[in-house]
Amino acid sequence: MTQEPQQFASDNYAGICPAAWAAMDEANRGYVPAYGEDPWTQRASDSFRTLFETDCEVFFAFNGTAANSLALAALCQSYHSVICSSSAHVETDECGAPEFFSNGSKLLVAQTEGGKLTPEAVRALATGRSDIHFPKPRAVTITQPTETGQVYSLDEIRALSAICRELGLRLHMDGARFANACAALGCSPAEMTWRSGVDVLCFGGTKNGMAAGEAILFFDHALAVDFDYRCKQAGQLASKMRFLAAPWVGMLESGVWLSNAAHGNDCARRLATAIADLPGIEPMFPVEANAVFLRAPEPVLEGLRARGWRFYTFIGGGARFMFAWDADPARVDALAGDLRAAVQEAQAGVTLAA
Ligand SMILES: *Cc1c(COP(=O)(O)O)cnc(C)c1O
Repeated sequence: MTQEPQQFASDNYAGICPAAWAAMDEANRGYVPAYGEDPWTQRASDSFRTLFETDCEVFFAFNGTAANSLALAALCQSYHSVICSSSAHVETDECGAPEFFSNGSKLLVAQTEGGKLTPEAVRALATGRSDIHFPKPRAVTITQPTETGQVYSLDEIRALSAICRELGLRLHMDGARFANACAALGCSPAEMTWRSGVDVLCFGGTKNGMAAGEAILFFDHALAVDFDYRCKQAGQLASKMRFLAAPWVGMLESGVWLSNAAHGNDCARRLATAIADLPGIEPMFPVEANAVFLRAPEPVLEGLRARGWRFYTFIGGGARFMFAWDADPARVDALAGDLRAAVQEAQAGVTLAA
């Protein structure tokens, strides 16, 4: 198959990184027991416990929708509710899976800036109703970094977990790009999660450089009771589990989980810096992780498309660019150059028309 030039429409356009691939290859030699009873699964789980400096419960799922949905289902009864941001993946991109797998726990949606929940928003939603006719608030879910690339500071996470404790809510973190947040803040995974009051984390492997797979980490053992049955019932127990587990060993033991993410973040900053002086082009959100959302006049976006670039505009009409572990800095520069050319072309078009 012919190789197309690299695109930044999604971090899922990237392939499998060498560390994950090599571990898969190693796991592919010989025979091991099935359904997670193998040494790779043990080693990957232990790698998580080492990285997070705690004896957490670790499970593996095929994707983020399953990981989030099952984690939230584990926190809730069917009559409970989960507070989330209006732009949360669980609300906008999981086809109702959190409600489905929890047998009806309702998402309570807060309108937010850049996808960040605040303690005030949580309090308002959690205490607005307390009667029998409304689903009882039970959990809060935050996305770190958010869908638009904002990173919660440790203080912000702690403030949220404090209000969760006050109101009897559990705190879930959708970490589809958890590594990018760790790289951005330069803090440890432990600080970002259980030391700041997070109860359950979904740690994304796919966008971090694996073929597939997310890990679900319970920092409170009681919450993980029977979670293995929940995974199996939902079709998330891999029979050849070693191939979900081995890439994690390759990523975590080498530190590649973090360097991959730091590279993606660097490339996002590289683009943002290269186009900072362009008239009429504005970042829609601060560039804090591996995402750049650009507001640009439609003729400029058309000019980019005409130059072969692909991107989504599903958030407020802005162009989204996501940078993965394999983002080529030369290609980032090419994007910046084409954006500059498209701006000049659009300006010339306006001058001609006048
Ligand atoms: C990509 C992503 C997920 C996981 O999506 P799947 O397609 O189900 O793997 C979850 N949350 C966020 C914020 C994401 O960006």
